[in-house]
Amino acid sequence: AVPAAKSTVSSAVKKPTTLSSDPIINVARGDPTIYEPYWKKMGDRCKVVIAGDEFMSYFCNAMNLCWFLLPELDNAIRTLHRVVGNAMVDDDKFIVVGNGSTQLFHALLYTLSSPDMPEPINVVAAFLLVQSYPEETKFLRSELYKWAGDANCYDRDEPYIEVVTSPNNPDGSIRGTVENREGGKAIHDGAYYWPQYAPITSKADHDAMLFTFSKATGHAGTRIGWAIVKDKVIAAKMVKFIEVSSIGVSREAQLRAAKVLGLIADDCRNPDVKGENFFEYGRRLMSERWGKLREVGMKSNGVFSLPKYPRDYCKFTGEYTDSNPAFAWLKSKEGLNCENLLRDESKIISRGGPSFGVDSTYTRVSMLSRDVEFELLLERLAAVKGTVNGN
Ligand code: PMP
Repeated sequence: AVPAAKSTVSSAVKKPTTLSSDPIINVARGDPTIYEPYWKKMGDRCKVVIAGDEFMSYFCNAMNLCWFLLPELDNAIRTLHRVVGNAMVDDDKFIVVGNGSTQLFHALLYTLSSPDMPEPINVVAAFLLVQSYPEETKFLRSELYKWAGDANCYDRDEPYIEVVTSPNNPDGSIRGTVENREGGKAIHDGAYYWPQYAPITSKADHDAMLFTFSKATGHAGTRIGWAIVKDKVIAAKMVKFIEVSSIGVSREAQLRAAKVLGLIADDCRNPDVKGENFFEYGRRLMSERWGKLREVGMKSNGVFSLPKYPRDYCKFTGEYTDSNPAFAWLKSKEGLNCENLLRDESKIISRGGPSFGVDSTYTRVSMLSRDVEFELLLERLAAVKGTVNGN
């Protein structure tokens, strides 16, 4: 930990508030290790045992359109969405599983474009946005689709795909499409539309929606994501993409995801469950963390501030709740470079505004780190004086 006395810096002596021996805190990525204690407590309830001769075939269910989707996972996904009420999962909707929702994003770009079009289809998203969308769209220099920037500025009379993340990464805002032209296509990313991050106000019901095990439960390393798709042709094309790129998705990983999602759904439905269900736990934790961070922000004498979010009625909890986003979107005083400030004064590695298409007074900090790291983050932020600025 950083001794408070040593971390005080006068504006005359422009020195970092940390010691050279203090560890670097990296909160640039959203690695969701915050939930580890909960899953440790669940112990054997989440244990999955797989014998040597199990799951050897490529196929999970040859009769299903998504032939590599484990029926147990299909069932657990639909049950959990019904319990939480965050997405429509009628029986006529298709679930496509992917190696993380990242693979499904690529699958959707492929699916929503067409080799018959004279030009690659434009892919847009309203700024602010997570930089992985432009990166992933540009990566293969595809002839099927191309990145076309901010949806708010899109004025071409050409086909497009709009990517919408709600709640948004990095700033936690609740969003819808900004382009609503006839024939426009959309990818709705609901990675953070779970009760620990935001009030659940309605069942999302879009043509193509993405969810990920990573942010829902914290099991990012399992690499499981799923798409909920209305149209059979779209679902079939996505399945084809995954077939060609990875011949399906690990059955072991799917079994683990099914077990964990099933446990959460069971606990949410069972009023006799001992202790908190996963979402109660996650919501309490996130709300406590945000409370502490806001307090540090308030005491920072304006060195940095945080966005305010409207309260809304959450149909899952049955009460008005706050948004507690997975990332904090910090803004420093004008003239300061927030990312450099945190790095140079406090050895905090964050991801600065320019990575998201805005100025350097902003930076993004993950709220999903382990407890010790988060407490250290608070301590270091509390000591930031705004005097060392790498501009
Ligand atoms: N969508 C959003 C909005 C994200 O922030 C992330 C992870 N940073 C992902 C998708 C990726 O999810 P996955 O781990 O399932 O690939």
